[in-house]
Amino acid sequence: MEKLRLATVWLGGCSGCHMSLLDLGEELADILDKIELVYGPLVDAKEFPENVDVTLVEGALSNMENLELLQQIRQNSRMVVSFGDCAVTGNVTSLRNFLPVDDLLNEVYQQGPGNIPRSGEAGKVLPELLPRVLPLHHAVIIDTFIPGCPPEPDRIRTALLAILAGKPVKLAESQLTFG
Ligand code: SF4
Repeated sequence: MEKLRLATVWLGGCSGCHMSLLDLGEELADILDKIELVYGPLVDAKEFPENVDVTLVEGALSNMENLELLQQIRQNSRMVVSFGDCAVTGNVTSLRNFLPVDDLLNEVYQQGPGNIPRSGEAGKVLPELLPRVLPLHHAVIIDTFIPGCPPEPDRIRTALLAILAGKPVKLAESQLTFG
């Protein structure tokens, strides 16, 4: 049987959602038997590949690099999954939306110990921030949402098994509590 081509991506988030995925432990090993992991923090692949079946995207859209990668993911993935509360709602990442971007960058990068220039060659080390952090569905069509901060392993397992079976992801009521 052909394996499902899965990618996982980490945008503006803390990696906690990926850690929760790894917490599936032996169950994850069983699921991985049916999957070909083609891109993500756990795989050595530089470019997002073509013909991906499912991509789990952790984190919100915080900068232009996030946005460009998400658009590329949408073009090359049959199913895009908003993975965790930062992806679903903006959550923790969007706390910076209460501050003007310029004030934030000055405070952190000019007045902090790093003093990184904001312009010229040296300024290019910082990706251009979006004016506001956005949940993924504000930029592209999302097929499935897995809420939680992070989503509990049980919830991730339910979703992955449904996806593998080609069924709609239906989380039980007890799996839909946020937190
Ligand atoms: Fe981290 Fe929670 Fe955001 Fe996942 S949803 S990236 S665990 S803050």
